[in-house]
Amino acid sequence: MGEFEIAAYVSHIEANRSVKDALMQILRTRRPPYRISVTDLLNLKQAYFRRKYPEVTPTLEKQQLMWAGTGFHKTFGSAVSSEEYLEQFVEAEGIVGKIDIYEKIPVEVKTTSTPLDTKDLLQYRPTYVEQLGMYCAMVNAYDGEIIIYQRPTAESPSTSPLVVYHVSFPNLEAIREEMRRRRDLLVQALIDNDPSNLPVCPWFNKQCDYSQVCDCATTSVPASYEIADLAREIRVDSTTCEQLLSKMAGVQPSQLFGINDIVFPRKAYFDRLKLQETALREEVREEKEEYLRSMDELGFLDALRDSLRYGAPGEAQRIPVKHAPLADLVQTWQNLPTILRGPKLSSLVERERLPRMFPHYFLRLGFDCALTENTKGRLLLYYVRVPREDAKLMVYDIIFKNLNTVKAEALRRLGLLQKATSPLQLPKCPSWMCPYCSYRLECGEA
Ligand code: SF4
Ligand code: SF4
Repeated sequence: MGEFEIAAYVSHIEANRSVKDALMQILRTRRPPYRISVTDLLNLKQAYFRRKYPEVTPTLEKQQLMWAGTGFHKTFGSAVSSEEYLEQFVEAEGIVGKIDIYEKIPVEVKTTSTPLDTKDLLQYRPTYVEQLGMYCAMVNAYDGEIIIYQRPTAESPSTSPLVVYHVSFPNLEAIREEMRRRRDLLVQALIDNDPSNLPVCPWFNKQCDYSQVCDCATTSVPASYEIADLAREIRVDSTTCEQLLSKMAGVQPSQLFGINDIVFPRKAYFDRLKLQETALREEVREEKEEYLRSMDELGFLDALRDSLRYGAPGEAQRIPVKHAPLADLVQTWQNLPTILRGPKLSSLVERERLPRMFPHYFLRLGFDCALTENTKGRLLLYYVRVPREDAKLMVYDIIFKNLNTVKAEALRRLGLLQKATSPLQLPKCPSWMCPYCSYRLECGEA
């Protein structure tokens, strides 16, 4: 069978000028001076330095750890809940957050390599309680859960790997008030260029990336836990823990795939092998996101991404798609599957050449459309390197044809991925990726 060419399934590409103008307008008027996240409010000083020193980046070792871990939350979440409840983006009080699992109540999932201690969560992980408290306040839920997964280690191979805490927060308004206070404190510090009023981070950490620039040695606003202190009841929930363990036992984690895995099946194949070797290392996942975010902090790309995620009510949605063993969410915006990409080219690509220039964008959008039965999808391209601000963004409406064949290709790739015993049995990634890929030797592309 010849190589699948997504370009053959693109019937029509229209540049949508009115949507572009509307988006630019929304972005111009809605963009806040600083976008604050729940994780910022946990470590105000660090949030300050992250913005002021975007060039300070995590060490390579730390980054690798961050990347290696992306598998756990997805695998765990899919095992114990369904896609529509995973990774829910929320926004309140000008603060954004992402809840790991939000079905009836917010659930925060953490991983650790230190042995679990079921005694006093408030004592040994107050920031977990703080974070959950903020999510509860944002969605108006009086209860939430914290799940801590302990990665197996040589010292403690046989203990139960999970502990679940049920936490109640009777006074949500007090939490919201504290969130506003911290938000304003951070924004003011950023405006004044002065971090001295910000409390030091609760987890004093010698390995902090900002220790060289941070003023924590000379200023002394201590860390405090006003939000954690608002938790009324924190109890170990062993019933839920048992249920989760039995759900986890029932699935084959390595058998779950996302849509990107079928766009880049060879890479997915290698990633999986690697993931099995490094087995569920996660810990600093959020830092990864924060790091990526700080790279274009205040940028349009970021604000655009926000509009797609949060949008006006009903405008932005994430539609679950399931074709065992595929489980993922398709982002829709104004009812059309929509993807946003930021090509690094310094000039715009002509409309007709787009599918050949960026086949992976079209493959992804084609799969998104085919799996949700939409013939039309939307591609937002934000050319980061094009100098003129109003020329950077292009909005294209893409009309596909013969979507059944595209869907069949998605499912064929899924089947191949499940069965493959060698990368050579899988479609190649776009050739420009190979020189940068760490698997090129094993893949025979060196
Ligand atoms: S050096 Fe300490 S106080 Fe400063 S940002 Fe890092 S962890 Fe926070
Ligand atoms: S070497 Fe190329 S084809 Fe192979 S996994 Fe890497 S990017 Fe994909």
